[in-house]
Amino acid sequence: MYRSENLVYLEALVSRLQADDEEFTSYQEAYYRVQAGVAGELKMQRTLADYHFIGPHKIFYNFECINEKGFSHQIDALIITTRFLLVVEVKQISGTLFYKSAFHEFARQTEEGVLENFPNPFDQAYRHQLFLSHLLSSWRIQLPVLYIVVNANIRTKLDSSLNGSPIIHLSGLPKFLKKLYQNYGETKLDLVKLENKLSAISCRLPVRRKIDRYRIRNGVLCKKCDFQHVMYYHHGLWICPHCGVKSKEAIFLALHHYRVLIGDRITNRELREFVGIDCKAVTSKLLKRLNFEQFGKGRGVYYLIPEDVLDQQNG
Ligand SMILES: [Zn+2]
Repeated sequence: MYRSENLVYLEALVSRLQADDEEFTSYQEAYYRVQAGVAGELKMQRTLADYHFIGPHKIFYNFECINEKGFSHQIDALIITTRFLLVVEVKQISGTLFYKSAFHEFARQTEEGVLENFPNPFDQAYRHQLFLSHLLSSWRIQLPVLYIVVNANIRTKLDSSLNGSPIIHLSGLPKFLKKLYQNYGETKLDLVKLENKLSAISCRLPVRRKIDRYRIRNGVLCKKCDFQHVMYYHHGLWICPHCGVKSKEAIFLALHHYRVLIGDRITNRELREFVGIDCKAVTSKLLKRLNFEQFGKGRGVYYLIPEDVLDQQNG
C-alpha cells in the first residue's frame, strides 16, 4: 500500500507520544486526517486505472517538488495527456461542504452540526496550476494546465454554494476527463520528454515536524495492546506483561519507530535505554542478530537502522 512519509511519521508518533503530551490529540487528529486522505487517493487511483484514456498519457501520483523559490508542492495526481495537463486535488472530508467564493472561504459542517473552516482546496490547486504553467512556458511547452478538486467520500454532501466551483464527486471524474478531451485539441507534445522533465524535478519532501526526544516513550511496546504496555525481554522473546503475548519480532516495529522519530543511527547504549535492557552483553547479542551495518570505532560505534527494518520481521 502506498504510504506518504507524513503518514509513516504520524503513525509512529501517535504510537509513541507520551499520553499526557499536550499535543497528543492534535497529532492523533492529524494522523486520522492523513489516513483518510490516503484512502481517498487510493480510491482515485482505482477510478483512473479503470478509465480508458484517449491516446498516450501519464499519471504521477503524489507528485512532490520544490519550486524555484524554495517552496514545496504536493500534488495528489498530475495527469499528462497530449491535449492537457490536469492537477487533481483529492479530498476525503465528511459532512457537508460549503463555499463563500467572495471570501475564498471553504468550510464543512459535521453531522453533529459543528461548522469549521478548512484550507481552501481551490486556492491550493490554483497555486499548483500557476506553478506548472510557468514551468511549462519556461520549457517552451504549450499545453493547457487545468485543475479539479475531487471528493472521494461518497457520503459527503456538496452544498449548492459550491455551484460553479471546480469540485466533483469521484464518480464524475471519467465524464470530466471526457469533456476535457472534447474541449482541448491534439498538440504536438512529446509526452515522454515532458514526463522525463517532470520526473527530474520531483523529489520526496522531508517530514517537516521533528519532535524532542523526551516526548517519545521508550520500550518495545505491545501492538496488540495498542502500544499501551511495555514488553520485557526474556530468553530471546518480547513478552507483554498485560496480555501475555510473546513475540520475537516486536523489536522491529520499535526500531522502525526509533528510525522515523529519532534517527537512523543507534548506539548500544541508546538501544539499551530505548528497549529497557540493562545488560550490555544482551544488547550486543541482539545487535549481532539484527545484523545492522556498523560504523565507527571503540566508544564511537553506532549501527544504522535500515529503511526496510520492518520487512526484516519474517527474515
Ligand atoms: Zn499486550
